[in-house]
Amino acid sequence: MKPPQVMAFSGDDDIIRIVGHRGARGILPENSIVGFDFALSTGVDLLEFDVLLTADNVPVITHNHEFQGSCVRGPDGDFLKGKAPRVRSLRMEDVQGFDIGRLDGTSDYGRRFPDQAQMDGIRVPRLAELLHLVSQPKYANACLMLELKSDPDSALDPVARAGFVSLVCDEVRGAGLTDRTLLHSFDWTLLAECHRQAPDMPLSFLTQLHDSEDDVGEESSHPVAPDLHQPGISVPDEVSKAGGALWCPHFSEITAHDLARARELGLCVAVWTVNEPADINAMIDLRVDAIVTDYPGRVQRRLSDRGFRWAR
Ligand code: MG
Repeated sequence: MKPPQVMAFSGDDDIIRIVGHRGARGILPENSIVGFDFALSTGVDLLEFDVLLTADNVPVITHNHEFQGSCVRGPDGDFLKGKAPRVRSLRMEDVQGFDIGRLDGTSDYGRRFPDQAQMDGIRVPRLAELLHLVSQPKYANACLMLELKSDPDSALDPVARAGFVSLVCDEVRGAGLTDRTLLHSFDWTLLAECHRQAPDMPLSFLTQLHDSEDDVGEESSHPVAPDLHQPGISVPDEVSKAGGALWCPHFSEITAHDLARARELGLCVAVWTVNEPADINAMIDLRVDAIVTDYPGRVQRRLSDRGFRWAR
């Protein structure tokens, strides 16, 4: 029997799951409470988001280690320019001075999401705020794909790694959400540490073998990911050997053969980040377990048009 949160990400004959990527990045500020609340309120129970630490060791939800001028405004209200501040060097009270409610439409990153709402006063949330949100009875079905972002500057430091995992897992445990949370990362060494400290929380392994145009304006995961390029390697076999419950390949890299192999190994397969209608349809055709998307409503529509559901 699979753990309940793995079941929540698993498809069925007429079910393909939808995972709100950073909430609903296509239409609302990414990694924001307003975005998470919106996705959940539309019946999308599964949320993906990114966690890293402030200087005072507060787990916060934000994607990049350095605040980017394309999506972050400073206390003066302007998009950041010049040297980008590192989240790890800011105290929580300073993090709260930045506003993540708008995109700079003149930036490459901003141009990728022309439909995102432009809001003011949106702050980088603590992990604890999201845990509180999903603890409400109305969101009892919500499950979390919690991505631990390892800092390339300290990824090889076992003490830093253990400390990061411990702070994150303690918060999830304290909120009573261990049976609704997956620990998710590109950094397989970090996931091994997660298993050592929290064997009750299933692991979700991200893979990306090739760069994608979808990555414009974002930090790369390559410095911390293992090399999976050796000839003849089976990525799902590697994920299974490493103790994964989920395998999360970039959608352009999934094949019917690897999907079948993953199923043989008992892995649940969630593909990311699928936004274009043709790509969404291709993933439905393949019958992946779950689709991670910046546009949860768009995937709902494709699924319902084709007679699928995303929840029981
Ligand atoms: Mg992520």
